[in-house]
Amino acid sequence: MTRRAVIVGAGIAGLAAALKLHQQGWEPVVIERAPARRSGGYVVVFHGRGYGAAERMGILPALRERHVGAVDMVYRKADGRRRFSVSGDAIGALLGERGLTLMRGDIEGALYEAVAGKVPIRFGATLTAVTQDEEGVRAALDDGTVLEAELLVGADGLHSKVRELVFGPEERYRRDLGHVVAATTLDHLPEGAGERAFTTVTRVGGIFMIANLGPDRTAAFFTYGTPDPAAELAKGPWRALADAYRDITWAAPGLIASMPADNVYFDSVSQIVADRWSDGRVVLLGDAAWCVTLFAGYGSSLAVGGAEALGNALNRHPDDIPAALREWEAELRPEVGKRQAMGRRNTGSHAPAGRLDLLKRDLPLRLAAFPPVTRWLRRHLRLH
Ligand SMILES: Cc1cc2nc3c(=O)[nH]c(=O)nc-3n(C[C@H](O)[C@H](O)[C@H](O)COP(=O)(O)OP(=O)(O)OC[C@H]3O[C@@H](n4cnc5c(N)ncnc54)[C@H](O)[C@@H]3O)c2cc1C
Repeated sequence: MTRRAVIVGAGIAGLAAALKLHQQGWEPVVIERAPARRSGGYVVVFHGRGYGAAERMGILPALRERHVGAVDMVYRKADGRRRFSVSGDAIGALLGERGLTLMRGDIEGALYEAVAGKVPIRFGATLTAVTQDEEGVRAALDDGTVLEAELLVGADGLHSKVRELVFGPEERYRRDLGHVVAATTLDHLPEGAGERAFTTVTRVGGIFMIANLGPDRTAAFFTYGTPDPAAELAKGPWRALADAYRDITWAAPGLIASMPADNVYFDSVSQIVADRWSDGRVVLLGDAAWCVTLFAGYGSSLAVGGAEALGNALNRHPDDIPAALREWEAELRPEVGKRQAMGRRNTGSHAPAGRLDLLKRDLPLRLAAFPPVTRWLRRHLRLH
């Protein structure tokens, strides 16, 4: 008998779940609110649990094709003058062999290609209600359709509708880390930004970075500390960024002014801390369940690794979905807890709160650039 699953969200978590469940003989259907694929994004370091899962799920070759290798890191002052740089060699030593530098859209693309034609994706559809009993779960959509399935996966991100409908309001689970983040892809490389490099202006309060991973693969990224993230979001990205980065005269002003409305990610940096990730036949996956934030640099890895582990647990308990979900959660909790703690600790290195944070951030990078240290790192340090 075919087993049906409804997956809400066609981000990395949702597509990874669709692929894994399809590989195990399930018939998943994906519901995505956006009218078309969301392939854009920011630069992502992909390693650890997700890397192993991608290998086993067969998408590693597609990811490796998109991997750019280690990139240089160039640090500039607010007016564009060069401070120091770290070569890709040193960064490569830190990343290890089982780590990839990608755009978010590269992971989305590899997953999408793996499920295309096999798993239906309903774009422009969203969820309005969920009901469940021992027989199954029913997802009502905004066009009036009701989908019936054995399992519903809420992979709909930080502001999950599934979580709100089944587990309660977002405020109960969201922990703001006192920062906002903006990211956008660029169709050109601003003057002074390095090719195959992360060019960064770091100063007390926040950072601004232009990342280039090759032709047509450039993204800009901003994150800064604020006592009131909601007030910043209310201003909209153009005014908020123009205010927060008015001291940065290199590249930022023109770039902020020309950001297209349909290509800006702008949100508070928030974790989701939930005491359970499943309720009967409904399970949360990825940022919807445990958002670790960009400060942990591990959300896509956990999304892919979590999806694989979910499929494996369902395989071990084919007749008892709630038991599978409990076992899956117990397996993932320790790592998620560790990564969330890391995300909270790392706020200072992404948006230094004072001069000491700035020094703590710069010192290891400057050291890694020193050739004997680079060689030592390459020989001895395998992080993954
Ligand atoms: C700037 C930045 C840098 C990052 N860097 C890294 C990194 O270096 N390494 C790393 O591993 N991770 C990184 N991450 C985190 C990583 O990108 C995410 O954790 C990961 O992509 C998992 O996201 P997701 O699929 O759970 O959620 P999302 O990407 O938010 O996807 C959710 C999907 O659900 C859809 N949706 C939402 N609501 C509904 C609804 N009601 N109905 C239907 N569909 C809906 C959305 O349109 C979206 O497509 C970074 C994140 C950011 C913002």
